[in-house]
Amino acid sequence: MFKNAMEIYTLLDKSNCRKCFLPSCLAFAGSVFTGQKQLSQCPNLPPELIRRLGGNTLATAPFDQIIDGLMGQLQKEIQDIDLAERARLIGEDFADGKLTLKVLGKNFSVDTRGVISTEIHVNPWIAVPAYKYILKGAKKEVSGNWVSFRELPDGREGAGIFTQRCEKPLKKLADTYTDLFADIIHLFSGRQIENHSDSDISIVLWPLPRLPMLICYWKAETDLDSDLKLFFDMTAADNLDTDSLNSLTTGFVRMLQRIALRHS
Ligand code: SF4
Repeated sequence: MFKNAMEIYTLLDKSNCRKCFLPSCLAFAGSVFTGQKQLSQCPNLPPELIRRLGGNTLATAPFDQIIDGLMGQLQKEIQDIDLAERARLIGEDFADGKLTLKVLGKNFSVDTRGVISTEIHVNPWIAVPAYKYILKGAKKEVSGNWVSFRELPDGREGAGIFTQRCEKPLKKLADTYTDLFADIIHLFSGRQIENHSDSDISIVLWPLPRLPMLICYWKAETDLDSDLKLFFDMTAADNLDTDSLNSLTTGFVRMLQRIALRHS
């Protein structure tokens, strides 16, 4: 178990070779410490060392402990800012000591102590990006131009993980769970739009107010498998850092998986 990211960094060869799909060894060390990467994802680490430190499992503090720490830190940052002023700057409501915005179409409030109250099930994959959006995001108005995750600034590094954690599981869900798109529209205030990029289904939803997401699904045809792609507004990285965007989308896909399980 590591006490901080620097302890992990000291194990790495510091070549910044990017084989782990991150820009540097330091970024990788941070990602392992926060539970987003596993030590075994650095191909330059000797297998024996990885085995000694816990094989393919996370060689960090228990995930819940890391998340609790991160949530506590973000809560504290909220306590240290003028929340009413921040609400004014990002164009959100502030009343009765609470900033309220829409997360996936539902009211999501944070009070001056950083305590969340909301109608949706709060999991860390949603709470952490929402805190970060309030603290440092929401800098630009939405442009109306859609781009893939990979095309976002800094998106290339996380694009592989994004595909594995978000697009592939969502495509699998869409292939098997016929009510998926109706549920997205109904439960999360999604809106069907004119078909984008010749897709069969195009739905826009708002994980956060200045962060629309477009889901495009192409049905299977003879000799052609189905496909699903997610797009974001080209200003997305100004409104939320790409790691948090990845995390938020992962949380959303997991929420949909749980909904589909309940219905099956
Ligand atoms: S693969 Fe390993 S050595 Fe290369 S950048 Fe990532 S952490 Fe550093």
